[in-house]
Amino acid sequence: MAASRIVIENCAIATVDAHDTEYPTGHVVVADHLIESVGPGRAPAGLADVVRRIDGTGHLATPGLVNTHHHFYQWITRGLATDHHLFDWLVALYPTWARLDEQMVRAAARGSLAMMARGGVTTAMDHHYVYPRGSGDLSGAIIGAAGDMGVRFTLARGSMDRGRSDGGLPPDFAVETLDGALAATEETIDTHHDPSFDAMTQIAVAPCSPFSVSTQLLRQGAELARRKGVRLHTHGSETVEEEQFCRELFGLGPTDYLESTGWLGPDVWMAHCIHMDDADIAAFARTGTGVAHCPSSNARLGAGIARVPDLLAAGVPVGLGVDGTASNEAGELHTELRNALLVNRLGPRREAALTARQALRLGTYGGAQVLGRADGIGSLEAGKLADLVLWRLDTLAHASIADPVAALVLGAAAPVTLSLVNGRPIVEDNRLTTVDEDAIARETRTEAQRLARADSRTS
Ligand code: ZN
Repeated sequence: MAASRIVIENCAIATVDAHDTEYPTGHVVVADHLIESVGPGRAPAGLADVVRRIDGTGHLATPGLVNTHHHFYQWITRGLATDHHLFDWLVALYPTWARLDEQMVRAAARGSLAMMARGGVTTAMDHHYVYPRGSGDLSGAIIGAAGDMGVRFTLARGSMDRGRSDGGLPPDFAVETLDGALAATEETIDTHHDPSFDAMTQIAVAPCSPFSVSTQLLRQGAELARRKGVRLHTHGSETVEEEQFCRELFGLGPTDYLESTGWLGPDVWMAHCIHMDDADIAAFARTGTGVAHCPSSNARLGAGIARVPDLLAAGVPVGLGVDGTASNEAGELHTELRNALLVNRLGPRREAALTARQALRLGTYGGAQVLGRADGIGSLEAGKLADLVLWRLDTLAHASIADPVAALVLGAAAPVTLSLVNGRPIVEDNRLTTVDEDAIARETRTEAQRLARADSRTS
């Protein structure tokens, strides 16, 4: 069968390829689910089977944004504990989260996905680690929500098994058993993981954090992931308190502790990685371990400023993450492009701080690297998957900014005229095409209220 083609012309293009190639005016041709060509000027003449031709005048085309760290369920617990640091914030919210059920998790996933997709995210991830007993098929509900929306997706199947009685932070009623968590994770991989180049769903093994999981769960989780050939994800080096916890309990800092349990390697990415010394950064670089940088959440919880320029200089793969929306109520990735740049310029090494183009790279190619998908997504190049965004830059918000990449990164969140995943539109003219955004807004409010009522009845 002949390919059906979409031709996009007359737009600025930032390819985010290895040379950061940009075209002030160029074209992208999509054939079925792949990018067929990208280049300057108009598309080649005489293309057959063109089903759609888009005039991109006044727009910038980029790779779709890739989110590398999130907790979708938090969409229905936004705006709580707004003045807390991480550990106090977690302790305040764990009892509420332990009352989640499948319907709530589905609604929260739809809300989180919708917010990101309408802001140019084409690949999403969810680190879900709260599985209350009897709460239903939460992983299936989340994966179904991503499938309905048409977003490319990694579910990091999380877990917690170190309750308070074992010296951990979460209450005992919010954790799973070691064997239960491992068995459920393996079943999720067997049911849902697709290893192929154009996969829409992948699974990662993702015990929550050093202070909420046992050493055995880290060790056996890493073994499970490597036996199954899937990636590994967790939180690391987020706060000073975590560092103290690891030193007191294990006699090691977080990076050394995680390395001792098998958690450094080219198949691992970790969220935050703020409190790292030069030796920690060297260990990440030596092993190819990736980082999900979440600047808004880090600021919201007062966690600190990650050493992103130093990580990049050492060769560590770095992507961006929204993090859960209980610590980043905005829930969209544009803010992270902007804040990654701004926050790092407030850090101790201003002379090496990020550029606008580096920020765009973190949100696209860097994210693809840490999710292990850089062969297929993260840049606009012939042969890659057709995940791309056409940002409108000719309205009041951006029309007077000369540089389109600076407009996108430093300006207000740009309207999305078109977002393609696998060559299929998920956003047109700033509206989601696959789901009803207003219905999702109503549903998430209803479920947030239901959770609040369940919490007040039982606390
Ligand atoms: Zn997180």
